[in-house]
Amino acid sequence: MAITCPRCLKHPLKVEQKSGVYAGGGAVGFMLMRAFSGKHACPDCGTIPLSDFSPETRQGIILRKAGLVFGSLVLLVALVAFLIWMAN
Ligand SMILES: [Zn+2]
Repeated sequence: MAITCPRCLKHPLKVEQKSGVYAGGGAVGFMLMRAFSGKHACPDCGTIPLSDFSPETRQGIILRKAGLVFGSLVLLVALVAFLIWMAN
């Protein structure tokens, strides 16, 4: 689900990720990193701040971030449950 640039209305936005931040963090760290460091960037306009999006689009982005955080928490709980299960 690509979001079109709210400035030029031409390009679909790419989510840019800083690389190397998640080293050692594993899957949970990777998902949390994705949720918080992802920036929407247009080839012409550069990085688009969240405030430039329409309220509906912003809501979608926030919901997606919340989903990523929720997903990583579920993964973490599943991992801990697995470790407890292994220990027994
Ligand atoms: Zn643009």
